[in-house]
Amino acid sequence: MNNIEFDKQHIWHPYTSAVNPLPCYEVTGASGAELTLATGEVLVDGMSSWWAAIHGYNNPVLNQAAHKQVDAFSHVMFGGITHQPAIDVCKTLLNMVPAGLERVFLADSGSVSVEVAIKMAIQYWACQGRAEKSRIVAPRNGYHGDTFAAMSVCDPINGMHSLFEGVLSKQIFAPAPQTRYGQTFSEDDILPLEEIFEKHHHEMAALILEPVVQGAGGMRIYHPEYLKRCRQLCDNYDVLLICDEIATGFGRTGKLFACEHASISPDIMCLGKALTGGYLTLAATLCTEDVALGVCQGEPGVFMHGPTYMGNPLACAVANASLSLINENHWQRQIPAIEKQLQTELAKCAELPRVADVRMLGAIGVVETVKPVNVAEIQRHFVKHGVWIRPFGKLVYIMPPYIISAEQLSKLTHAIYTSLQ
Ligand SMILES: *Cc1c(COP(=O)(O)O)cnc(C)c1O
Repeated sequence: MNNIEFDKQHIWHPYTSAVNPLPCYEVTGASGAELTLATGEVLVDGMSSWWAAIHGYNNPVLNQAAHKQVDAFSHVMFGGITHQPAIDVCKTLLNMVPAGLERVFLADSGSVSVEVAIKMAIQYWACQGRAEKSRIVAPRNGYHGDTFAAMSVCDPINGMHSLFEGVLSKQIFAPAPQTRYGQTFSEDDILPLEEIFEKHHHEMAALILEPVVQGAGGMRIYHPEYLKRCRQLCDNYDVLLICDEIATGFGRTGKLFACEHASISPDIMCLGKALTGGYLTLAATLCTEDVALGVCQGEPGVFMHGPTYMGNPLACAVANASLSLINENHWQRQIPAIEKQLQTELAKCAELPRVADVRMLGAIGVVETVKPVNVAEIQRHFVKHGVWIRPFGKLVYIMPPYIISAEQLSKLTHAIYTSLQ
């Protein structure tokens, strides 16, 4: 049985059937902005392996950090033990994130960091004798991960809530913001959320959202004023604000963190994906001193969460190398250059009859089609044209590694155009 056949018979892949899966491509190498397939094709990568590999694959700086840490020690438990890689990553993060965030919980995946954020918010109120404040509010079209608490705040329709009816916590959903980035903000956008706050604030622990760019729940790019208003509502009604920057963090939208588009600081922030430059799984939940004090006040006085691989030294060491590359600030030149090229090359797709909308921000380009695309078919087209792009539903989108060259990016935008012609 060859690899592809074995894989098809025995291995689950994300978001596809185990018995009748979408086709799968075997990768044998990856370097810079390119993936090499077992069949010999070299593909320009448009996905950064889901927002993560921002510095490109096989990056010498990240490789060296990983080698050095493997030779020192790869893992020790975090209970009662600390180490330099964790200290460095937390110190560096605190210097980078919006003001007010002071405490770091190192989680082992983005979804877990969201679980931790929600748990913190609920415990924060419970420890102050306000256990009734336990519900979470979220805009529709959000995506926060695949574990249960995270799922409960994902868009109720494309998050497939109906499957888990009765098991998922009943959260409160607001309409997704409609005013696009760059348009004039419409007050209608915030009114439904204001009503929800007025009516439900006594039972609300937190508002969770993805700042400015809603990722896997629809690839929507909205007006930062909405985020600013959310911050004000949370302040006025004693509700915590959780910003999920797992996809948007580390320069992707043109700011180091998408919160900066609205000049706001959240009470709790989730980071992940690009944190290790796409090498290893690591995430972080950051919170303010007020949240940390609130969570730990009274009984039980502790936060009951501690993944086995919490603060994994190997992941932290690679994260430190990735953060040092980010702090060299090449992204401040790379992201606007990518955005400008998307504006000229990808925008052209709008003229195609199969295309409903084209939008972009920073190093994110989205083409929304009129009807859902045939993923297997369109991927065959992409591979034939030397690119790796993985659409879902009506969304053909790219968020390439920051180090992509102009020629490589043109290959991506050209392949999208021809695939939808
Ligand atoms: C990917 C993602 C998550 C989940 O992260 P995992 O590491 O896949 O668990 C959560 N929130 C957002 C916004 C994401 O893009």
